[in-house]
Amino acid sequence: MVKAQDRRFPRFKTIIDYDKCIKCGRCGTNCTYNCIIFDKEQDRPIVLHPENCVACQRCTTFCPADAIEIHRHKVEFAPHPVWTPYHIRSIVEQAKTGAVLLSGMGNDRPYPMVFDYLVWDACQVTNPAIDALREPVETRTYLGRKPERLSIRKRGGKYELDDLPANAVLSMPLIIGHMSLGSLSYNSITSMYRAVHEVGTMMGTGEGGLHKDHYPFKKSLIGEVASGRFGINTDYLETGALEIKIGQGAKPGHGGQLPGEKVTQLISETRGIPLGTDALSPNPQHDIYSIEDLKTLIAALHEATDYQVPVGVKIAAVNNVAAIASGIVRANADFMTIDGFRAGAAPRVIRDNAGIPIELAIASVDQHLRQEKIRHKITLVAGGGIRSSSDMIKIIALGADVAMIGTAPLIALGCRMCQQCTTGLCSWGIATGNPALGNRIDIDWGTRRVANLLRAWNHDLEEVLGTMGIDAVESFVGNRDRLRYVGPNPLEAEILGVKHAGDRIGRESE
Ligand code: SF4
Ligand code: SF4
Repeated sequence: MVKAQDRRFPRFKTIIDYDKCIKCGRCGTNCTYNCIIFDKEQDRPIVLHPENCVACQRCTTFCPADAIEIHRHKVEFAPHPVWTPYHIRSIVEQAKTGAVLLSGMGNDRPYPMVFDYLVWDACQVTNPAIDALREPVETRTYLGRKPERLSIRKRGGKYELDDLPANAVLSMPLIIGHMSLGSLSYNSITSMYRAVHEVGTMMGTGEGGLHKDHYPFKKSLIGEVASGRFGINTDYLETGALEIKIGQGAKPGHGGQLPGEKVTQLISETRGIPLGTDALSPNPQHDIYSIEDLKTLIAALHEATDYQVPVGVKIAAVNNVAAIASGIVRANADFMTIDGFRAGAAPRVIRDNAGIPIELAIASVDQHLRQEKIRHKITLVAGGGIRSSSDMIKIIALGADVAMIGTAPLIALGCRMCQQCTTGLCSWGIATGNPALGNRIDIDWGTRRVANLLRAWNHDLEEVLGTMGIDAVESFVGNRDRLRYVGPNPLEAEILGVKHAGDRIGRESE
């Protein structure tokens, strides 16, 4: 029997309007968290377990009679500035289970969003704006190493350009980050793969390998080479780019584990591991303990792919990120992803406390690489908490060539941020390995939603570049003089390399 003290504090309250309810049972069928149980034999057929409600909103969305409301539960904690509900709930849960708390959908602690302290510039009088609807604004971007110089040789009486380093072409400076089949359903992954393929950008495979069904989208995918090395074979090496994962923003310094019960036939085929075995990704890459080791693996991947695809490195945004980035450029990476601390599923204690915001990390990396005169060699990708096209535009001005998103396409697929991704019960069919739940996403619909989102953000970018009189996104990368800071912290502005609003250009030389 469950002791009263062990019962969960309900966070939400589900209210059914029985005058409106037509007893169709959809709420019970759609609820995966045992909050609503529908028993048509009863007079009042809906049995509620509010302590299980996670506010996924599946029931309210599918109720044909608009008969369900979800409210915050009125269990009121005595106000205390130190022992907040977050701390009390965590202690109660860990005292019950003795386990690490897991959570999905990123760091939800109230750290300031640096993006919200930045505004950008616009043309007036002397510098004409561009009308992006009628005049070209180039947003095409190249993912890969840039040559020091172009060299032309004479061969057989003809002048020819020497081979350029392999670059993947992106129709826009926006990609979807690594999410693996297994952590997400087949239908949601397929929708996103199809969407990036259709719009001409890319998505990361995560560390879960690549299923044969997804081979047609290979050239639009970035194959992840993670510490578990799951599913890496000659077919996988034909993806449009490869990326060595050293770290990820949700859990810097941490690896991963897919428990055996989640390694179904589909996952076993994709990862190349036996059915039902635990898939463990060690925290470090066990063959990389120095920049020289990293250089060796980059060289091996270049050789294995006959130098036909760019090879990148992904790191989490941590304190010393600028110096680490400099080493990665010197290890001959073609592109580098910096993953900020806001996104993803992870042990909560790591997710909520490790790493630094991507805005500060990318500004620091971009400025450091420029000082070292090596910034031009590498493509910088930045992700972790990019919520909107305006965040994407600001991260580019702070120094990223390409913005990377993960949560936003999941919201496009129906995610309601209930943070239950690690339970495998996602009622929207996104973060689940259960095919019956996964089938809640229609792949054609999902493809359209994600493709629409990507295109819409790219249109926003074209419009904004036009208002700044910039005709190619390339000229906007690291152009932090077009940003101004409106936040409270001068040191933050200094690290970002952004002047405060109202500060006149050239003031320092007066
Ligand atoms: S989905 Fe709405 S109408 Fe149908 S049983 Fe549930 S509350 Fe009633
Ligand atoms: S993916 Fe599913 S489980 Fe995760 S936050 Fe979104 S709706 Fe909830």
